[in-house]
Amino acid sequence: MTLLTPNSPTAELQALDAAHHMHPFTHGQGLRDKGARVITRAEGVWLTDSEGNRILDAMAGLWCVNLGYGRRELADVAARQMMELPFYNTFFQTTHVPALNLAAKLAELAPGDLNHVFFASSGSEANDTNLRLVRTYWAEKGQPERQVIISRWNGYHGSSVGSGSLGGMKGMHAQGGLPIPGIAHIDQPDWWGEGGEMTPEEFGRARARQLEEKIREIGPEKAAAFIAEPVQGAGGVIVPPETYWPEIRRIVDEYGILLIADEVICGFGRTGNWFGSQTMDIRPDIMTIAKGLSSGYQPIGGSIVSDEIAAVINGTEFNHGYTYSGHPVASAVALENLRILEEEQIVETVRTRTAPYLKERFESLTAHPLVGEARIVGMMGSIALTPDKARRAPFAAEAGTAGLITRERCFANNLVMRHVGDRMIVSPPLVISQGEIDTLIERAWQSLDEAQAELA
Ligand code: PLP
Repeated sequence: MTLLTPNSPTAELQALDAAHHMHPFTHGQGLRDKGARVITRAEGVWLTDSEGNRILDAMAGLWCVNLGYGRRELADVAARQMMELPFYNTFFQTTHVPALNLAAKLAELAPGDLNHVFFASSGSEANDTNLRLVRTYWAEKGQPERQVIISRWNGYHGSSVGSGSLGGMKGMHAQGGLPIPGIAHIDQPDWWGEGGEMTPEEFGRARARQLEEKIREIGPEKAAAFIAEPVQGAGGVIVPPETYWPEIRRIVDEYGILLIADEVICGFGRTGNWFGSQTMDIRPDIMTIAKGLSSGYQPIGGSIVSDEIAAVINGTEFNHGYTYSGHPVASAVALENLRILEEEQIVETVRTRTAPYLKERFESLTAHPLVGEARIVGMMGSIALTPDKARRAPFAAEAGTAGLITRERCFANNLVMRHVGDRMIVSPPLVISQGEIDTLIERAWQSLDEAQAELA
């Protein structure tokens, strides 16, 4: 066959794509009817599609391109590593320099006594590792009945059988027999959507106390861990009320269960600190990492665990691992990504300059008639669309219709924002400039105007 190129006609690219390529989280009908948008190149925060449009990527790909597109240093490191050692595994008492350096660097960056890393190639794989790690930990500690992991409805922890079960996406559970046994869910701290007449503070405490109720329901001797994103991302950037995490910490400590912070989105500067756990003042026993670890330039993820967990797990043979655990090219690229984040003081710049500016501009969207609230932590935020701000009312149309319309308007205006139901999300590369933030907000406002006209 003749391979197509980025310069091939869009219609040809779309037809071949629709014929053979099965897409994640995509309805096939849309691909057949309209075709996929074909992205051909990118630089900074700007994508180019096969029609030559320049599109502002306010989602950093899938919340991952923290450094922005087109960093030559990462490509150079990958090329060098491919020539030196393109692959070797880390099974059976073998190691290599990129993996050992990356593990040590992560131990240095991670808070508290999180000093040991088990590598994977994605967030899903890392959370599957966590499932087995936690259960093995308790079994090795002589408490094999501690098996149940508690997570949250509308949390997202990945798409594999294990991580999809840990997540609380009902649409995912409906396909393929999820969740697997031994996982229990509690409600999310989404005050805007579910807080009713409670104040945010009351609601935050009430939702946290569901963890205690769940532990008592399953029996404290069976509860192994609680997993949560410091700030829910894929669920719609749900920022918990201030009372939520302190109460969760009290409960986790009181019942002696492990706390897993899923930092796949929140990690590596997204919330204005290296990790969301620092921003939300959480002290996890395990952190899941991926995405921003390599700014998406290579597929890599992992679990960073405490001294205590590592001591127990390393006291036995943990029969677990992936061919690409600590892949040398992915590890080398991740290390280079961390070097740039540090040397260019990107996390600090986010905290002191970029995030405050984005917050001010993003919150100005609440002046738009369609926008109820704006929630933003660091460089991840969402706005809630509503026909009635005072009542926090949903639209009469099926949930998600207003979000979808707005997202399509954004696309037409060369802005990538994502919608989750009727919330619109931003999570731009951390290196976005103030001028680019202005463009983002202008295009979002215009798209909201157009959506409002369409919804009327
Ligand atoms: N955990 C969180 C919080 C995520 O947002 C994601 C992906 O969006 C995952 C885990 C799964 O990561 P991956 O898609 O790399 O498997």
